[in-house]
Parts: sequence; structure tokens; C-alpha cells
Amino acid sequence: MAKVPELFGSMVFNDQTMQERLPKATYKALKKTIQNGEPLDLSVANVVASAMKDWAVEKGCTHYTHWFQPMTGITAEKHDSFISPSGEGQIIMEFSGKELVKGEPDASSFPSGGIRATFEARGYTTWDPTSYAFAKDGTLYIPTAFCSYTGEVLDKKTPLLRSMERINTEAVKVLNLLGKADVTRVITTVGPEQEYFLIDKDVYDQREDLIYTGRTLFGAKAPKGQELDDHYFGAIKTRVANYMKDLDEELWKLGILAKTKHNEVAPSQHELAPIFSTTNIATDHNELTMEIMKKTAEKHGLVCLLHEKPFAGVNGSGKHNNWSLSTNTGENLLDPGKQPETNTQFQLFLAAIVKAVHEYQDLLRISVASSGNDHRLGANEAPPAIISMYLGDDLGALVDSIINGTEYISKGKVRMETGVDVLPNFKKDTSDRNRTSPFAFTGNKFEFRALGSALNIACPNIMLNTMVAQELSEFYNELKDATDIDTAVKALIKKTFTEHQDIIFNGDNYADEWVVEAEKRGLLNFKSLPEAVEHYIDKKNIDLFVNNKIYNTDEIHARYEIELENYSKEINIEALTMIDMARKNILPAVTSYVRELTDTALAKKALSDAIPTSVEEELITSLSNKLVCFSKMTTELEDAVLKANDIGDGLASAKYFRETVFAIMQELRAIGDSMETETSSEYWPYPSYGEMLFGV
Ligand code: ADP
Ligand code: MG
Repeated sequence: MAKVPELFGSMVFNDQTMQERLPKATYKALKKTIQNGEPLDLSVANVVASAMKDWAVEKGCTHYTHWFQPMTGITAEKHDSFISPSGEGQIIMEFSGKELVKGEPDASSFPSGGIRATFEARGYTTWDPTSYAFAKDGTLYIPTAFCSYTGEVLDKKTPLLRSMERINTEAVKVLNLLGKADVTRVITTVGPEQEYFLIDKDVYDQREDLIYTGRTLFGAKAPKGQELDDHYFGAIKTRVANYMKDLDEELWKLGILAKTKHNEVAPSQHELAPIFSTTNIATDHNELTMEIMKKTAEKHGLVCLLHEKPFAGVNGSGKHNNWSLSTNTGENLLDPGKQPETNTQFQLFLAAIVKAVHEYQDLLRISVASSGNDHRLGANEAPPAIISMYLGDDLGALVDSIINGTEYISKGKVRMETGVDVLPNFKKDTSDRNRTSPFAFTGNKFEFRALGSALNIACPNIMLNTMVAQELSEFYNELKDATDIDTAVKALIKKTFTEHQDIIFNGDNYADEWVVEAEKRGLLNFKSLPEAVEHYIDKKNIDLFVNNKIYNTDEIHARYEIELENYSKEINIEALTMIDMARKNILPAVTSYVRELTDTALAKKALSDAIPTSVEEELITSLSNKLVCFSKMTTELEDAVLKANDIGDGLASAKYFRETVFAIMQELRAIGDSMETETSSEYWPYPSYGEMLFGV
């Protein structure tokens, strides 16, 4: 292996490569676009395209693709080769600025939520020069945004970029007002921590539920789960360590700052965390990371599961969205500094975030809603479905003192005495981590923890950026004409904390009392996607998106429809898979086993009446009774799925799938799992939880 610094970014057409390969003027023009969002000239694009192609060909590429993020939940790509005829059966490798800047994929098969009539099948992809192109599997990948022929947004990148611009504009205005004249740009930074499961490919291939839905729809608990807590941070098994090493190298080649890896709480569960970058790049990189995780697993005879809840009874997988704001002058706006009590700039930004999370808690909840994540939120393993904020003891005390007008006493950094001479003493953090909070302040950033492992992080970041931009613009308007800015800022901070303190909760979010308390405070508690997404189109939310020019009204309605439709489709596939497993494999398997038991009992009886057959008889009776229920329940599920076809309305359909179809699925599973515990493993048609979770 090449040394890491040489390996890192070797497959990326990054800044260094551009400097080396582009004429100075072209490089400068492109850099302006990247840094300041200035529009790009076609003549510049032509030069960039040609240099990119030469570089890509050297890296072994024959094709290029516009890589985009439609509303399917995964990335999309269509490959075109560089070849161009040059007379007499000869070809040359060509790539023009036009091809770099614009692509025209057929948009008709991507979700549009009814925006795009089928006769307007055309869609456009446009180059996003702020995210570097890269070479992968013989293809030059160009990150792009995706919209319809009539200009409606059909992807996740476009609104993300818009939201980054919005928060930039508003944050700069506020900072300039506060006297920071040298700040001309504010970017949002994100570091997403990614959880995943690794299981053996042979075992995976025998489970149609994993293949079709990504999670197990049947499966009795293994004798051992995560109760010993012996997996978290445990020594990494050789096979997994080899996978992780390979994965790191693949990610580094693509310029992805993979930093931390460790075992997670559940058996076979792991985590990867990168070093943070701008939100747009963090999003592209996280999408790539998930893809490379899956591909690398194949090479090792493994399968990487990114579903939020592949296994019942053990923790599911999430993603932590570490989010902050920083300026072109290198300042992290969420760093409280040594004296947060006198740092009114920090307090003002904190106030904007507190107000935003309070007023738009529904949007944050919606942004992490998915059929998979519904299994986690509120299930005492992940943050609850109630959105609240954790500030820690120190900042909590500061906010209290501001609200009450009392003196703030910092606990300061406390020296930690290890009590062992050979161990160095160190300063401990002023606040412990609150692992149960969905939205926690962690020193100089907020960590939004309710994301599901498979989610495109663009979704929550669009919400976060937009809602905070909105609050900052309201703050700016309130402050801009103040005669005494200092007094006005302080008053605004006090007023905001006072009005929005109900969103702050420093206690245990898993406790039952919190549910009651949160309700008293008027906080929302949406337990499932349909309940949450219903509020996507509330007037306050439409106003937010329209006023900040993130989406127009049609685009919001489209997203609302797509969310609901995807949800119904996913549960529908799960139900159909269950029916298939039940009818074609589980029922026949248990029936065969019962026949064997019957044959055994009869054979014993034929030998002598004195041989006891009570064991066989008890099992025959128990399993036969369960078979009756199981078969009845399977029929009930079939009927329920059929009825769903008659519901035209997206919301009504999603609610039906949640309340009726999903409820029957859970009952069917319970009977199936109880039959599994009584059936010989020779007969049971699927690998067990033990084999899946402890097989690697
Ligand atoms: P932990 O969550 O264990 O405290 P760290 O604080 O080191 O770990 O970081 C967790 C994640 O947060 C990493 O992906 C890291 O890059 C990211 N992170 C750290 N600082 C920032 C920041 N200012 N903005 C966004 N993400 C950050
Ligand atoms: Mg963390």
C-alpha cells in the first residue's frame, strides 16, 4: 500500500490537481465559483472538462457520469463514454464543457410527487463545482444537482445548497451588525458518524427478508444479545478489521476523511466517523461512504446492512449529524470560548438555534422519518421521537442566569485526579455527555442524533440551515435599527431564551416521566412517519420554505407525497415478503417437522405402548395450534394488503399501512418466532439470529 498521504485523494480531481493541470486564469475563475458561488463561464467549463478528461483517462476511466441524489433515497448515475468518432472508424476521447455542465437524464422514472407530467419526461443535471469530481470503477463521477424540464427541484442537493446560501447570507448580516466587518462568508460544517452491521454473505443469501427489505421480518432472539455490553469498543475481529482497513483505504482514495472506527453496542454492529467538512461535501461523502461500505463488504464475503433496524431485540443503527457554523476568518460560531457569560455573539447564535429547534421541531422530526427509523425513535435505544435540546450543566446554568437575571457561576474545568502516579492527571469536560438527547450541545457543535443509518443527511441539514437562517433574519430585522446594539442584543437574547426554554431538557430522555413532562410543555411526539409527515405542509412550514426560497409550494407538496408514498411502498414490500416467507417456507417447514414428530410417535407406539410419546405429542399439539393461527394471520395480512389498493389518498394510505398492515405483521411475526423456538433447526428454513449476529 502506498503511504496514506499519497493515497489520500488520489482519485479526486481536487484543488491540488486543478492547480497542477489548469491554466492559471481558469483555475482562478473556477475557484471564485467554488468559494463565492459566482456563475461559471462556458469557456472556463470547456478548459476544465478537457483537463478533467485527461486526468480521468490517466486514472483508467473510459466513461463519465453525472452523479445525483434523486428522491429515491440513493444516488443515481448514468454512464456515457468519452468516445467520439474521428472519421474512418477511428475514435478520440472527448469531453466538452457542455457535457460537464449539463446532463439530460430521462426524469420520468424518478419520484417527482406528481410535479412532472409524464410528457415532460426530460430532466436536467447540472454540475456542482463545489464538490470535487472523482474517479471510481473506470468512470469519472461529476457531482450534480437534478431538476425537471420546467425547473422544479427533484433532488436533495439543490435545496441543501440553497439552504447553505441562506444561512450564509443571514449569519454574515448578523455578524457584520455585531461589528465583525471582516466576515464575508459563513459555512455550515458537518461530521456524520455512521453505524452499520456486517454479516456473513452466505447467511444473508438465505434470507429473503434481508434481500428484499434490509431487515429480518421473522427471527427468534438468540440466547445471547447485547446484554453483556461486551461488543461496544471491544477488540475488532480479524475479518472485520481487514474489512475496515480496506474500507479506510478506498475512502481515503476518494478524499473522504475516514477517521474513527470501532465496534458498536449490538453484536456485529460497527461505526465509522469522518472528520467534518462543509455540509455539501459531507453529504456527498456520506452517500459515497455508504456505497463503498457495501461494495467493500462484498469483497470480504460480507454484507453491510444499513437498515435502521435489521434485527429485533438488539440496537438498531443511526447516524449522528454533528453540525456547526464557521466563518471565512476561521471562527467556529458555536465555540462558547473561555467566558461564555460575556460572549454575546455566541449567546445570540445559541438563542437563534434554540428558537429554531423549538419552532420547527416538527420539521426536524420529519427530516429523520422513515419506515426503518420508526423502529428506533422512542424505542429506548435511540433518542425519542420528542425533539428537545441538551445544553449541558454549564450552558444550562448560563441560560438560566440570563433568563433570571442572576449571576452565572461556571463550574469551570475540573482537574481529574486519576489517583495513580503513572497516569497523567487531566482536565475533564464541564458537562458529561447526555447520550439520550436527540439534539445535544457537545462543546462547540450540536449533535443531532435522531437520524437513521440509511438517511441522506441532506434532509436534516436542509431543515437545520433553513430554520436557523430564518431566525437569524428575524434577529437581524429586530436589531438593525437599534441605537444601542449592545443593549438590544442582550434584551433579544433574554427574551428568546425566556420564550423558548421549554425546548431545553437536560434530563433522561428515555424516562417515562419525560413523555408526560414534554406533553405539558407542548412539545410534539410523533411516533411514526405518517403522523410526522402530515405536518410537512402546515402553513408555518410552507411559509418557511417559500420565504427562504428553498422550495415553492408545489415542491413541498411533492416532497410530502413522495415521503408518504415511499413509506407505503416499503411496508407493502415487507408485508408481501412476509407472506411469501410464511406460505412458501415457514408453513411447509413446520408442517414437515410435525409430520416427522407424528411418524416418530406412531413408530414408538407400534413398537410398544410402554414407550412414552408425550414429548412428541406436546410439540405436535403446540405447533399444530400455532400453525392454525399462523395461517389465519397470513391470510389476514394478505387481505389487508389487498384493501390498501383501494385507498387513493397518500396520507390515508400511509396511516393504513402503519395502523393496520404493520400491526398484523407484528402479530404474524410473534407467532412465527414462537414456532421457530419449537422447531428443529434442521427444518427451520432460515438462518437463526445466532448465526446472523455471531457468524462473522
Ligand atoms: P465525539 O462525538 O466522540 O465527541 P468528536 O467530537 O471528535 O467525537 O467528533 C464527532 C464528529 O463530530 C466527528 O465526525 C467530527 O469531525 C465532528 N465535528 C467535530 N467538530 C465539528 C464541527 N465544528 N462541525 C461539525 N462537525 C464537527
Ligand atoms: Mg458523537
